Amino acid sequence: MKQKYLILNWKSKVTYDTALNLLDAVKTMADANAKIVVCPPYPILKDAIEWFKGTDIEVGVQDVSALPVGAHTGEVSAELLASMGVKYAIIGHSEVRARHKLKNADVKEKILAAQKAGLIAILCIGEDEKAYKTNKTNAVLKKQLEECIDERVAGETLVVAYEPIWAIGTGHAATPIVASDVIAHIKCITDDMYPFVVVPVIYGGSIKANNIADFIRVANIDGALVGGASVDPDEVLKILGVIEKKS
Ligand code: PEP
Repeated sequence: MKQKYLILNWKSKVTYDTALNLLDAVKTMADANAKIVVCPPYPILKDAIEWFKGTDIEVGVQDVSALPVGAHTGEVSAELLASMGVKYAIIGHSEVRARHKLKNADVKEKILAAQKAGLIAILCIGEDEKAYKTNKTNAVLKKQLEECIDERVAGETLVVAYEPIWAIGTGHAATPIVASDVIAHIKCITDDMYPFVVVPVIYGGSIKANNIADFIRVANIDGALVGGASVDPDEVLKILGVIEKKS
């Protein structure tokens, strides 16, 4: 099986001590055959980067400012993050979109800032329950992609995460068949946008140790974004145990 992404989004669910325990749990599986990206809260970044030095595990952030280094109190610039050794940035997560009332145009500015600084942008898109139940998923995602991506966004440093809002943190994951169908639709759009680049598309929403295998074994699902389960060390070890070892 080709290497799949495993993105761990710790949200704001850790304290300093629990974070250090989790870093240990993730490090024991550094030889898993997956592109593992750990996304802790900002104050843990430096520890995480140190912890995973010499391994293939990368560190990402859960959000990034669209603003450059400058007089922007309270913001964290992509340049600062990149200069510390951060490699990935989750952008447009539905929790961030809702809290900060982000529009797709704001998400686009964050992607551009991240890529300009050398980060790989993990763009989150997803429909709400109403859109899902009224068969509007594909239309909603198309609009999000078209409004979040323009010709300045580089396909080479872009990952798309399909994260249905109704599945995040609810314990009700999409079925692998639904996720695979939606991802096929997303890939049609990204293939049109980037004829010469393959943009990976992953699934996120209530992934746990007991269902991750059903998703990552599907050929067109390029990996998983795991939230809640990624802050339980036992779940992390079980999830990583599902993934083959590097040969
Ligand atoms: C997420 O936060 O991106 C996510 C997928 O959360 P959860 O796994 O808890 O549904």
